[in-house]
Amino acid sequence: MFSAYIRIILCAIFMLSTTAAMANTAASEVNVYSARKEALIKPLLDRFTQETGIKVNLVTGKADALLKRLETEGRNTPADMLITTDAGRLYRAQQADVLQAIQSKTLEQVIPANYREPAGYWYGLSVRARPIFFAKDRAKASDLSSYEQLADQRFKGQICIRSSNNIYNQSLVASMIKANGVEKTEQWAKNLVKNMARPPRGGDRDQIRAAASGQCNIAIANTYYFGAMMAGKKQKDRTAASKMALFWPNQDTRGTHVNISGAGITKHAKHRTNAILLLEFLANKSSQKWYAETNHEYPVRNDVEASALLKSWGNFKSDAVNLSILGQYNSEAVKVMDRAGWK
Ligand code: FE
Repeated sequence: MFSAYIRIILCAIFMLSTTAAMANTAASEVNVYSARKEALIKPLLDRFTQETGIKVNLVTGKADALLKRLETEGRNTPADMLITTDAGRLYRAQQADVLQAIQSKTLEQVIPANYREPAGYWYGLSVRARPIFFAKDRAKASDLSSYEQLADQRFKGQICIRSSNNIYNQSLVASMIKANGVEKTEQWAKNLVKNMARPPRGGDRDQIRAAASGQCNIAIANTYYFGAMMAGKKQKDRTAASKMALFWPNQDTRGTHVNISGAGITKHAKHRTNAILLLEFLANKSSQKWYAETNHEYPVRNDVEASALLKSWGNFKSDAVNLSILGQYNSEAVKVMDRAGWK
């Protein structure tokens, strides 16, 4: 009788401890799908594991492919978090119903409201601007003022910009639709196309390279590409960048167009609590400093300083529109660019 009691108690203790161990295994990992390259995120994830004991399983891939994968996997997805670039893409993920809204006092405190989705579906983790670059020997800052002005006839044949199927341009045009309306933006896009030095091709870096080599005087590109060229290993790119200067457009009006890289918790996350912890970790001061500097971006937090290189470009006023608006106007932007003949 007595030994039966002991057996039951021992058995209960054993079961409890196994359950606890299982719960502990389940609780001690988090799975991340990242459209950012491994080098840009892995060291931070390792630091997270060191500090919390939570293992991070990282899958990197192209942004659109990872979104497709999340959609296909549905509730069977192993992913707890999606990291990607551009608010337009985060909005697409939200629309595709693969993210869930989460509330975090920490995130709300440190990430400015315009850099996160109002309901908490995604949060910005770094900021990039999309200013104008000009060839120092062929153009000057005093000739420039705004994105709108680039449609003026006097810039005929002078502008290099990548294609309209690129999300960065779609988000830029979305911000213009928000500011100026569809009609004006379409007229602007039509005239901008007339001012292009060549049919759009290549990435942002290629626009800066083309302007440096004399194919055009003005290029539009994201700031981190310019930073990467200035500080990079390729002598050719450093030389090209040295011929170019950055101009902050729309300083007298709404400010220069900015965008983010960011992350959201997946709808079917099995390690939701860990994923939120990781998101908060990525938003902490030291992560912000490392993450921003590694890719020549601006920290999303106002209380973390930008790198010396980025500071050398000067302060600027940025468009304060909530970036979820860029997603809302994305399809309208695509149509406007299409009608304008922007290849
Ligand atoms: Fe990029």
